[in-house]
Amino acid sequence: MGNRIRIAYLEHSAFAVDSNETMLIFDYARGAPPEGANEGQGYITPAFLERYKRVYVFVSHGHGDHYERGIFDWRGHPGIEYILGYDIADAPAGRRMSPGDTAVFGNLSVTAHASTDIGVSFLIDWTETGYRVFHAGDLNLWHWRDESTLREIEQAERSFYDAVAPLVGSPADVAFFPVDPRQGALYDAGATYFIAQTQPRFFIPMHWQGRADVAMDFARRAGEKRTRIIALTTPGETIAIEKGENDESEALRTLRAEPLGETLENRNIITEG
Ligand SMILES: [Zn+2]
Repeated sequence: MGNRIRIAYLEHSAFAVDSNETMLIFDYARGAPPEGANEGQGYITPAFLERYKRVYVFVSHGHGDHYERGIFDWRGHPGIEYILGYDIADAPAGRRMSPGDTAVFGNLSVTAHASTDIGVSFLIDWTETGYRVFHAGDLNLWHWRDESTLREIEQAERSFYDAVAPLVGSPADVAFFPVDPRQGALYDAGATYFIAQTQPRFFIPMHWQGRADVAMDFARRAGEKRTRIIALTTPGETIAIEKGENDESEALRTLRAEPLGETLENRNIITEG
């Protein structure tokens, strides 16, 4: 059972990934939950975190849509650690990382990689589960063909390709990456390049600006033989991934009705493919 993980969409670029007694949280900027709301709606609460022995909170960078200081209200948890992009200067706790840094946190080996905006992206080798997880932060091919000069476009492409190059040859099992409709026809240029170059096994679109249709459309048409794209579009929506005896027999299961933190019971699992 050690190699089953669950992934919950929280909002925008925020996700929770758990396995047994460990929880990873990425780019959580939702703030305190409204009265009565909980992880089932994609909100993290201190009571929820109590179910885990170890909690690792990642913040790729300090933009308001990726970072909110309320995450430090969880510091009462005895097993919590904060892993932050170098640009976050006001954090009361945690380890800041710059591109190229590698550090070990419990059963995680974390390498910070470049972003094409501020902060970092994270590549995590989760030794307990055997999974490798990538969160892009704001790493993307950010250009707008209508508004940019040719030179700006070339520069954006060069810095994006340079940032992706170190990730080639270390395919992630799960990759979270931006697919942003504000870029118009080029909304998926960065994602498509990233998939072709790094070949993650599961790719989860994020940063889609409230446009679930964009994420779902990308998932429908952009999958490749090696990469399965999964659009999670409702806060709290959760999938489980399990590695089979050999990697080819992997099963993907959806747990739409089951909040994170509940025990996994097969009767609640719908097998998709
Ligand atoms: Zn962003």
